[in-house]
Amino acid sequence: MVLVGSHLDSQPFGGRYDGTYGVLAGLEALRSLDDAGATTLRSITLVDWTDEEGARFSPSLLGSGVVAGTIGLDDALARTDANGVTVAEELDRIGYRGTFDSSSLAVHRCFEAHIEQGPVLERTGTDIAVVTGVQAIRWFDVVIAGQDCHAGTTPHPDRRDALVAAAGLIEAVDALATTVNKDLRATVGEIRVQPNSRNVIPGRVRLAIDLRHPEPSVLDQAVTQLRTAAADIAERRGVTAEVRPVLDMPPTVFDAGTTELIRSTAAGLGYSTVEMSSGAGHDSMNVASRAPASMLFIPCVDGLSHTEAEDIRDDWAVNGAEVLLGAIRQAADERPDLDSHHR
Ligand SMILES: [Zn+2]
Repeated sequence: MVLVGSHLDSQPFGGRYDGTYGVLAGLEALRSLDDAGATTLRSITLVDWTDEEGARFSPSLLGSGVVAGTIGLDDALARTDANGVTVAEELDRIGYRGTFDSSSLAVHRCFEAHIEQGPVLERTGTDIAVVTGVQAIRWFDVVIAGQDCHAGTTPHPDRRDALVAAAGLIEAVDALATTVNKDLRATVGEIRVQPNSRNVIPGRVRLAIDLRHPEPSVLDQAVTQLRTAAADIAERRGVTAEVRPVLDMPPTVFDAGTTELIRSTAAGLGYSTVEMSSGAGHDSMNVASRAPASMLFIPCVDGLSHTEAEDIRDDWAVNGAEVLLGAIRQAADERPDLDSHHR
């Protein structure tokens, strides 16, 4: 089959198009083929991957992870949300616990349309991004330990303030994009402070760090500088700073033939295109480990995503769906004897 789709789940506060656009664009493409009475050599299947965001059940990319074999089905079904409810219980409750054995899935090519979730397409007036892959991701936790003590009685030279040390490290992480590589993404997205009380000097802080770049060697440099910065700040502030690796996800390179189908279809329809490495993780990363897969992006307003402000224009939505339709139609008519690239 030719597979097309994305995901319908979202982050707690949205947005409305991240994932949903790709499922509905695929649905519209299928309906258009039906409306036209078109027949294809291969079947075309629409997919809505369960729990892409991981906002309720960890890890993210859960459904496609089962298909890719990165997480076992029983393990995925046993995952619990913050209230202890399992994926299996929720699928039973809503009537979506299927019996299809995904190990028998035979995918000829997989296509996913998605909003860019960044500002490049809108800023440059480009219609479609042809996505060549997904950049590598590394996560670290940094645990900074000093000494919590009274805010009113402890002179500053005697302090071992973990939060002041964390402030320095946050600046250092942000600066990695300047010192290492301009295309590096280096973010501190989460901070936990103990004891988190106005009149107590913070004794312990945990920072959650997200580093991304298409080239693992660039990430190696960033990690080296991160460790150096953490050690320097720790020494200066009289604290300890332990850098703990949490996730090391290699880059994904999408299938060249599938990517070319998207590019040539977009060009044939008269759309402007640009090649892009995805900054965000997507289900197509998982699919790519089993079948030829690729993605296209459409612009989103002001590059905003994972927020209620996330928005797209109607003509952008139509452009992407037309490219998707053309690409899946061609893929669905490719003959089996051309399938030498298959894994
Ligand atoms: Zn998404």
